[in-house]
Amino acid sequence: MTMKKITIAIDGYSSTGKSTLAKALAKKMGYLYVDSGAMYRAVTLYALDNGLIASELNQNQLISLLPQIQIEFKMNPETGIGEVFLNGKNVEQEIRSMRVSEWVSPVSAISEVRTKLVSQQQSMGLKKGVVMDGRDIGSVVFPNAELKLFLTADDDVRAKRRFDELMQKPHNVSLESVKANLIARDQQDSSREDSPLIQTQESVVIDNSKLTIQDQLDLVLNLIAGIN
Ligand code: C5P
Repeated sequence: MTMKKITIAIDGYSSTGKSTLAKALAKKMGYLYVDSGAMYRAVTLYALDNGLIASELNQNQLISLLPQIQIEFKMNPETGIGEVFLNGKNVEQEIRSMRVSEWVSPVSAISEVRTKLVSQQQSMGLKKGVVMDGRDIGSVVFPNAELKLFLTADDDVRAKRRFDELMQKPHNVSLESVKANLIARDQQDSSREDSPLIQTQESVVIDNSKLTIQDQLDLVLNLIAGIN
């Protein structure tokens, strides 16, 4: 039986394993995976590298330079996953740094930034068969998505996961600073005026503090089977 292609929106707090789940789902279903957070991170990297952030973010200058920021995903043939390019340069590693994590929420709160990225995200999902993760995917980007998931997990579990991920590459950060950053970003992302992180009514909430990656994947595949 051929299953009809659907749109899967995954939102939730920082480091709740959204991208791990999204990648596994996309692989299993032959769907396109889009990491929308990578796009906000790339804009933040641009702002940092172009002197738009000193002790404060120069919001007006960033808005005026938005037409010069080109973000695209290119498939890494080894992993089968799209990697983010900023004005032609692969920035997949750089955007994960704490420097970027510390400024990404204020950059993401700018409406003009969101308008630009949301329209690009929507065009990537036109043909369905897409799994996108972020903060406003079910609420703003794909309000008609057939499946909306909202992920949560304990603060300590999330901080440890993110810390372990960062430690796979040489990073000079402490577990405490990672945890503080997650909590600060969640607070800013949930309280901003434009497209705050919210749980939509239709979202299926998954607390994965105690779930294995496989348990969570099986749970979601069951939900998908129920839709088709
Ligand atoms: O998903 P990730 O943690 O990489 O996202 C980084 C930041 O990008 C979030 O903390 C949030 O400020 C912003 N973001 C957003 N909307 C999205 C995805 C990410 O505002 N759809």
